[in-house]
Amino acid sequence: MTRMSGARERRVRTGGVELCVAELGDPGRPTLVLVHGYPDSKEVWSEVAPRLAERFHVVAYDVRGHGRSTAPRPLRGGFTLEKLTDDFLAVVDAVSPDRPVHLVGHDWGSVQSWEFVTVGRAKGRIASFTSISGPSLDHFGHWIDRRVKRPTPRRVGQLLGQGAKSWYIYLLHTPVLPELAWRGPLGRAWPRILERLEKVPGDGYPTPSLPSDAAHGTWLYRDNVRRRLRNPRADAHAHAPVQLITPLEDAFLSERLYEDLEQWVPRLTRRTLPAKHWVPRSRPDLMATWISDFVTSVETGRAEEVRPRGRYADRFGGQLVLVTGAGSGIGRATALAFAGAGARVLAVDRDAEAASRTAGEALRRGAVAAWAETVDVSDGQAMEKLAERITTGHGVVDVLVNNAGIGLGGSFFDTTTEDWGRVLDVNLWGVIHGCRLFGRRMADRGQGGHIVNVASAAAFQPSRALPAYSTSKAAVLMLSECLRAELAGQGIGVSAICPGFVNTAITSTARFAGADAEEERRLRQRTARLYGMRNYPPEKVAAAILRAVARDVAVVPVTPEARTAYALSRWMPGALRRIARVKPPV
Ligand code: NAD
Repeated sequence: MTRMSGARERRVRTGGVELCVAELGDPGRPTLVLVHGYPDSKEVWSEVAPRLAERFHVVAYDVRGHGRSTAPRPLRGGFTLEKLTDDFLAVVDAVSPDRPVHLVGHDWGSVQSWEFVTVGRAKGRIASFTSISGPSLDHFGHWIDRRVKRPTPRRVGQLLGQGAKSWYIYLLHTPVLPELAWRGPLGRAWPRILERLEKVPGDGYPTPSLPSDAAHGTWLYRDNVRRRLRNPRADAHAHAPVQLITPLEDAFLSERLYEDLEQWVPRLTRRTLPAKHWVPRSRPDLMATWISDFVTSVETGRAEEVRPRGRYADRFGGQLVLVTGAGSGIGRATALAFAGAGARVLAVDRDAEAASRTAGEALRRGAVAAWAETVDVSDGQAMEKLAERITTGHGVVDVLVNNAGIGLGGSFFDTTTEDWGRVLDVNLWGVIHGCRLFGRRMADRGQGGHIVNVASAAAFQPSRALPAYSTSKAAVLMLSECLRAELAGQGIGVSAICPGFVNTAITSTARFAGADAEEERRLRQRTARLYGMRNYPPEKVAAAILRAVARDVAVVPVTPEARTAYALSRWMPGALRRIARVKPPV
């Protein structure tokens, strides 16, 4: 029995083997053919296929020698890319004889699909190809060639980096041993290894055929890898649009491998996500969404329109991004910047109306989806409920931006314990709650992610005018550094953003300790005027936040004055201390 619920099965005979083919959904709809990798069977798609079957005719088959398909005899020479292409064409003839199919491959399924989408005899049979974690051996061969023939320090680094990630390929080329290991201890331990190292949920996957799949599949490597890498085809150009999905925490493939891909693929859409290698198991929702969007865009002839736009579109498209304090200023600009890159945006604020205004605008700016949530970030219980609700409704957050904060001026002795409590509750505890609740889920998921904490230049610039605010921000900076160290091994980056003076509404809501209502109104107006004259737009801080996530930067001072203060705090702290004594003009 197949584990893909509701699937119909048929056998397709080709080249001396019998392939087990599963079908879901209405055959009248566009056909998607899903090809699994190594060591795997078509069951790797059992979470993705039913989601796609709501809109498409979905076909998944066991590659020869895997799952419930028979193996060629002899094994040696039975797994060449040419024979795998024969199999694919036989499946297509059976399931969609009159219409080209949309091809999706993961790992070795993607490696062989690259062959299908670049050889002449499959031209016209493939409408689009989504490649997940599996390069073309021909492109890989040229990639190596270019780096060996014209080495630069960067290219040699790339070569060594990928070489180290390919250790298992050398092992699989040794005779007999891999088969013995897979049919013995490795085969038994594999489900646990996948669960522990790859964080693949262990719900009955992989299936019991794994040891024999893995043993047979070693011939995929032996029959093809050396031969193709030494002699890559020069005409391996894709004849259909390609969507490339690259998990950034992939232990086996580096992102650099795809640097030259535009030369082989005229219509390429790139997408990346923080995740390990087995994304059809760990991120089935997102995979189904991206495949479905891409196929629909090709079917409707709107591939160009739907393609994510903007500088970071390939990095953030489809990702779940949560921004606190998204109703105004820096938070709003950040939510909209992620929206512009095609993310799914959660706009969180204590001001419900402001949050939904941002969510509405996010949709207009290109967010794949956007929701508004109301919460006071300083309320631990409310934050816990929010985290629960969001995880159930939308999944684990990929990028968390702890931005909500409030201003408080006034001397230390004018600052009451209530004032301290409020500013620490929002500015520090709000960040702690966010990191604990959403960061924990990110870590448990084990597929990487990023946390951004919005601190301030006040975190490293002392001042007699802002003791409580500066203390809260210094704590956020240190918390970010500590958490960054703790999460480094888990593919989760942590960035502290430290803006200087930014023209937002914070000046009109900031409190001034020791001032009566009239005095506070006057101080707010004056600060607002000064910030207005400085006129640094929150959009520039938002751009710095996206850059910090994409490049995984630890501390980012934004605005020239923040950068100057940061440099002084490291090289001339005495000068900063003297500036700190200056009394603010009244
Ligand atoms: P802003 O007042 O324009 O926006 C802050 C948003 O946070 C508002 O929508 C507000 O409703 C929300 N918020 C406040 N308290 C909240 C709470 N307890 N729970 C949920 N939402 C809450 O301010 P901004 O300038 O955009 O500030 C954003 C962040 O940037 C803050 O952490 C601030 O300290 C920091 N920052 C601002 C500046 C600046 O010059 N504007 C400089 C450095 C750092």
